[in-house]
Parts: sequence; structure tokens; C-alpha cells
Amino acid sequence: MKLYLINGLVIDCVSDNLQPRPAAVTIEAGRIAGIDPPQLVHLPAEGMVINLGGAYLLPGLWDVHCHPSGMVDPDEYSYFQSEAECTLLAVRNTTAALRAGITALRSVAEVNFIDVALRETYAGRHPAGLWRKGYEDKPLIGPRLFCAGPALSITGGHGSQGRVEPRYTSLVIEADGPDEIRKAARTCIKMGVDWIKLFITGGISGKRESMYEIQMTPAEIEAACEVAHHKGLKVTAHTGCAEAAKIGIRAGLDCIEHGYQLDDEACELMVEYEVYYCPTISVTQDEAYLRRWEWPEDSIRRALAGAELHRQSFQRALKAGVKMVNGADLNPIADTAVPEIEWVVKGGMSPAQALIASTRHPAEMCGVADSLGTVEVGKLADLIAVRENPLENISTLREVKLVLKEGQVVVNGFPTEFSIPTGS
Ligand SMILES: [Zn+2]
Repeated sequence: MKLYLINGLVIDCVSDNLQPRPAAVTIEAGRIAGIDPPQLVHLPAEGMVINLGGAYLLPGLWDVHCHPSGMVDPDEYSYFQSEAECTLLAVRNTTAALRAGITALRSVAEVNFIDVALRETYAGRHPAGLWRKGYEDKPLIGPRLFCAGPALSITGGHGSQGRVEPRYTSLVIEADGPDEIRKAARTCIKMGVDWIKLFITGGISGKRESMYEIQMTPAEIEAACEVAHHKGLKVTAHTGCAEAAKIGIRAGLDCIEHGYQLDDEACELMVEYEVYYCPTISVTQDEAYLRRWEWPEDSIRRALAGAELHRQSFQRALKAGVKMVNGADLNPIADTAVPEIEWVVKGGMSPAQALIASTRHPAEMCGVADSLGTVEVGKLADLIAVRENPLENISTLREVKLVLKEGQVVVNGFPTEFSIPTGS
């Protein structure tokens, strides 16, 4: 059945200069089949028509730094959950994110490959075998996922949870030396990841470490990059300080996470090596979030102490022309992904830059720009609509009125003018 979205204003995110334009969009077999001037649309003989009534149609949003089951939890409460509980949380968190307009996620450290299982389920590849018969016409709808599984960290490094590592619910695989790193990276690849995530420095709010503490050696980072790139996969790294960013970029990283401290040289290297930057700026800026989620006072203090440096680093990267991608690193994703976009705008991005960092850039970074990330004929119909112009009011993204994933209606707050079933 064809789906027609009429009376919309399309912000296609194709170029850097975004302008809404009136258009009617036709969707067929999950893809955008036509983008026509509105006056050319004739009433279809069959299909479904959604009247956007002057709303703005955009590519679905991406959040490329998330942990589907892992609350960033300085008091480590969540580490006492079972793997089954983590899985259920991850399902709730990701399906709610899709309903909020986040049609794609990159998971960059998740318990025991739960993210890979979600990816397979939402792509309709799971359940397999005999179970498939029962669920073919009842798919579980969630966002697209690009997954790293557990991150690789040195013994006792960032993400390591104390003296006794939980056996099944750890966010990390501990590995030391290039050979162990290779083994861990190959294990992740065997389990089906799309990315390898490294923790190469300490974190900003860790009790037993600092972001200036470089934890992984250049040879270890190179080993991970060599294994991943050999398989056509990418590598990203939690990176606190400028020195680690430079070491990591030269060792082959494809993306830098956080970059709490970045100097001019690090930014220039990111441009030169075409490394993406995911600033996760909310982590140090959004004090209201930290208080709402009852972070311990000393963790809030450590996060806020890094706020000014983090903001300066973000602005330095922006000025240098580093390719940005947005991801909040906070849960629930449905409540934090759009505030992260607001924060990067407050930090100096234009709304157009922020939209591109949540649509086209992540699709390019994940190697799927030929099918996702913009509103263009032939691309998969992962689309959202909002009432106001996000180029004038970015916060309108908080109230997504239409969500399509691959042409399937997930949320629709607009009148469906008529629907004539196929064959009538
Ligand atoms: Zn994270």
C-alpha cells in the first residue's frame, strides 16, 4: 500500500543550507518513492493519506552514543541487575526512543551483546527457526541499531565496576596488551557487532580515575583498529584528554566520544583524518538532569567541574570544522536525545548544523548514507514530523507528531484523510 504525506514542509537535510519546502511525499515498500510539488498530487486510487497540515517533515533522528540498558549510574546501583532485567530495560528504552522520533541508535557499550539481539529483533531477523512462524506478522518495532556490544577496557580501567566484575552484566571486556585486545575485538566481531568501542582514558566522574589518565597504550588501540578495519568495521573511543585523542586518532580511531578536553591540534587531526566527534555535551552541562536522576552530590560536582572545559573543547571542534554527530549518553533515551540537540545549539551550533549532526552525519559515519539520513527519493522512509520549524525552534523536536520507520507508521497525530485498502 502506498502512503502519501501531503501538505508538509520538507527539511531534507541534504545540503548544509536547510530550507523547508512544500512537498508531497509518496512512500512505497518502505522507501521514499516520490517528493513532488504539492499541486502535482492527485487523489490516489488506493493507499493511505496523512495530511500534515503544514507540519515539518524531517529524516528520523539518530542518537549515536547510547547504552540501551545501562543507566550512567555513579552509585553503581544498576550493576546489581540480572541480564534478563537489563534486556527488558533495553527493550523498553529503545522502543520508547523510537516513539519519540529517534529512529536509529548507536550503542557504544552494552551488557553481553543485548544491543546486537535488539538489532536483530527489530530488523525482523529474530526470532529465527520455528519461532519465526509465530511472529512474522507481529514484529517488535524498534529503532535501527548499530552496536558495539561491551566496550574494551584495560583491567581495572574505565567502566570496570570494582573489585569483582559481574560475570554476565558487565559493560566491558577487560583486556591488556595488543594480543588480548585482538582476542576481545575478535570475540565482539564473532558476536555480531558493527563497531568496536574502546575506553582509552578515565572518565570525568569516576571515583578512582581521572579523564587525564591515559589507560590504553597506542599499540593496544592500533591492535583494535587493525582487527576492526580488517573486517570493515569502525572503532570509537571514550576519550577524556587531548593527548589521548591525538594518540587515538593516529592509531586509527574513526570517532571520538566526549572529548572533554580537546586542543587545536586534536581538532585539526580530527579534520585531517576525517574522524567524527560525538561530544555528549549534556553529560557536563545538564545539571537539572543530574539532579532529577538523583546523582550523588560528589558526582554532580565532578561533572560540573568539567563543564566549562568541555564546552570550550566542543566550540573549538565546531570552529575547526570537525564533523559532529549527536548522542546524549544519558537514559532514558526518549528523554535525553532531544535535550542533547538543544544543548549543542546552546553551545554554538546552528539549528541546521544540529539537525545534520542528528541525521546525515550519523548515517555517513555508520556507512549507510546511501539509504538513510536524508529525505530523498530511493531512501528508506525513516521520517518524523513536527508542528513548528525546528530551524527556528529546535525544541519542537520534543513533540514529535509522526514517526515512520521504513514506511511503517509508529506514531501519527495527524488526520488520516482517507484510506482505501488495496484491491477495493
Ligand atoms: Zn557512554
